Amino acid sequence: MRRRALLSLAALPFPAAAQPKPIAVASFSILADLLREAAGERMDLRVIAGPDMDAHHFQTRPSHAEAVRSAQIVVRNGAGFDGWFNRLLSSTGFRGVTVTATEGITLRRAGPTPGHSHGSQDPHAWQDVRLAIAYVRNIEAGLIRADAAGEGHYRALTAAFVARLEALDGWVRAEIARVPEARRVIVTSHDAFAYFGAAYGVRFRAPQGVATNAEPSAQQVAGLIRQIRAENITAVFIENMANPATLRRLAEEAGVRIRGRLYADALSGPDGPAATYEAMVRHNLGLMVPAMLG
Ligand SMILES: [Zn+2]
Repeated sequence: MRRRALLSLAALPFPAAAQPKPIAVASFSILADLLREAAGERMDLRVIAGPDMDAHHFQTRPSHAEAVRSAQIVVRNGAGFDGWFNRLLSSTGFRGVTVTATEGITLRRAGPTPGHSHGSQDPHAWQDVRLAIAYVRNIEAGLIRADAAGEGHYRALTAAFVARLEALDGWVRAEIARVPEARRVIVTSHDAFAYFGAAYGVRFRAPQGVATNAEPSAQQVAGLIRQIRAENITAVFIENMANPATLRRLAEEAGVRIRGRLYADALSGPDGPAATYEAMVRHNLGLMVPAMLG
């Protein structure tokens, strides 16, 4: 009797705490936060391009290949944003679940920017909160494919998160509505906010183009300075990733003040103002709205 009890105990799986969790890897910090919300404690999460790192141009290290090799699921943005991550996947022969967060989203064409080396699509869809919800749905489906036993867990977490993001989207609309339409113009370092602009009715002007390494021509900068003066644009920003030098020079020549630092392509560290996706959106709006107002 006792012996049988022991045997049946031995046949039980290890207690949950002792079992290694499946590993999930996100290509960059914003995806990592969305993944964390949808996966919760069931997965061991890793991020390759972490907070305040430029995922447009990223040099992978051997430890990154190691993380991908051990993963059951990986999440990438796609649309030409994190091509280096695709190379990491093929070089490691990754065979797990691959989530492309932008899958199913109608991508915008990238504006004509001389000298930038990226594809013809604009990858920055996450700046529209409704499209971030589409990202989260894609991640949810991937998590369930990778770990079917956790389906209920992933569905519950995703539902709660999506409800918060829907409320956030409504808040963004209400904030923008405080700004008269003619004042809804923002100048920032690189074209990361086209989806945001289309979703919320804000016009963006950027000297740098869609990729963070594209150098604007003197002509482009001069044109933007004329526009700032002619339209009396007051909302001028630098970004956490893009080089601020051009924007600083531009603001000085146009006689306007830089109104702060927007988070476009990466989150801040845990102690910064944009440690999560939701904090990033709130931080950006908190700077944009007063700056547009004057
Ligand atoms: Zn970008």
